[in-house]
Amino acid sequence: MRPLLLTTVVLVLAACSATSSTPWEANAEPGADLVLLHGRIATMDAAHPNATALAVRGDRIVAIGGDAEIMQHVTERTRRIDLKGRFAMPGFIEGHGHFLGIGAMKLELDLRGAKTWDEIVTLVTDAARRAKPGEWVVGRGWHQDKWTSVPQPNVEGVPLHDELSRATPENPVILVHASGHAAFVNERVLALAQLSAESPNPPGGEIVKGPDGRPTGLLRETAEEFAWSARARTSKTRDTFHKQVELATDECLAKGITTFEDAGTDLATLDRFAKLADGKKLRLRLWMMARDDQAALRKGLATHRWIGRGGGFLTVRAIKEQIDGALGSHGAWLLAPYVDLAGKDEKPASAGLNTTELAVLEESAKLAKEHDLQLCIHAIGDRANREVLDLYERVLGKDAKTLDHRWRVEHAQHLDPLDVPRFATLGVVAAMQGVHCTSDGPWVASRLGEEPAGTTSYVWRTLLDSGCVIANGTDAPVEDVDPLPSFAASVTRRMPSGAAFHGEQCMTREEALRSYTLAAAFAAHEDDVKGSLVVGKYADVVILDQDLRTCPDEAITKTKVLYTIVGGRVAYEAK
Ligand SMILES: [Zn+2]
Repeated sequence: MRPLLLTTVVLVLAACSATSSTPWEANAEPGADLVLLHGRIATMDAAHPNATALAVRGDRIVAIGGDAEIMQHVTERTRRIDLKGRFAMPGFIEGHGHFLGIGAMKLELDLRGAKTWDEIVTLVTDAARRAKPGEWVVGRGWHQDKWTSVPQPNVEGVPLHDELSRATPENPVILVHASGHAAFVNERVLALAQLSAESPNPPGGEIVKGPDGRPTGLLRETAEEFAWSARARTSKTRDTFHKQVELATDECLAKGITTFEDAGTDLATLDRFAKLADGKKLRLRLWMMARDDQAALRKGLATHRWIGRGGGFLTVRAIKEQIDGALGSHGAWLLAPYVDLAGKDEKPASAGLNTTELAVLEESAKLAKEHDLQLCIHAIGDRANREVLDLYERVLGKDAKTLDHRWRVEHAQHLDPLDVPRFATLGVVAAMQGVHCTSDGPWVASRLGEEPAGTTSYVWRTLLDSGCVIANGTDAPVEDVDPLPSFAASVTRRMPSGAAFHGEQCMTREEALRSYTLAAAFAAHEDDVKGSLVVGKYADVVILDQDLRTCPDEAITKTKVLYTIVGGRVAYEAK
């Protein structure tokens, strides 16, 4: 026995020393590294939904059940956290967000709280004054439908650039729309990008023009690129990658998120994340979609399929594409024209934008199939959703569901009732954002009409009842990454006014919890290691000060995150 035991110890020690700086790797000594005791634990495991305690060894759960049972795993070196009756559940999984965007937002001008256009002009003018002449000012998060008054003059509710341009003559200014699907720029940017009354619209985008034919400053969808390339040409931008990762990580961990599903990052940036993962520098788990041009994808996909890299901290096994824009910026691709654009001028009203040619999407679908990757296509309008479902059916076949492909529609926001059951039939996951319903609800009907909005928009109940899997999230930084407002929106659909947006489509508490844990893990092909608290899965746990299954509706958003545990390691602890 002895030599064998010695060999084992040596091997284990050798394995540990290779990654000695990581406290969450398996310990050679017996017993648990961490136990949680005396809690109310929602396991999300259908066979044993409730527990009071759990034990962790290395980065995995080794036991879950009652306190007496778990105490058997406690040794001298075991860290104990007494939950004192508090609530614990699998860590939140953000199902669709833009990880670096969260960090970038913290380094730029945050316009999400602005109530009027004048307020934005003031904020930007101040920022321009602090900047050097010629330095670019970038802001993010404005939304014309969240303003308390309509700016005058305006085109489709969005102002003309003149006032902003007069206030910021020395600095180029780009203000990204909350949806991320349009940007507003000042005169300096228009000049640098050489945009004028004569400039034609690019494919999949629009240079919005006023009654006199001049650009208003609003650049929709692909037209935004004119501004960003002018910036790339004329200024040296600081590399803030690491800063953004740190800021975004801290923000997510403080809000109870243990896995973040990132909705699209280019291959070169994915390489930088791989470096962080390999150096054990990531503190929360990332599941990232590859988003790049077709040539780059074709060349690089084979070397960018990573599953559980860096001890389960980085997975890339999906391609991101986008078929349309957002509803707020009139970019969502609809079956019928926008009701608020009807009768505005001679031409027929717009039904939105198809931002990526269908032939390109078809090519990406083939690439995804060939490389055994998921395909995740952004689709907001009902036409966009239908086209994506048609595409998936064409490429995967009528029996798609049996392939367990878990291809996704990102947002799946407005659906023709005929298309709703097709998600379940084809095995397509709907990656939706609870909080979009309540923050956009007040103006959805103005775009789509009252009646259609009720039967087509954010139809969680109908989707779930048809057997569709819904992953929840926030699309951060479009919305705050905090899961609690999105959870509350999912179960109440209550808008800021207090009225519910078609309350009959609410999720139950259980369904909403699932959408933020097990279903979100399923949507990433990761339900074998995450999403529920069972033996063998990662010890990714969040501890809250109240029970999300039973607290009053109004209390949900007041819930405090006490601990966020990633792979058995306390990654955040409330002060
Ligand atoms: Zn997004």
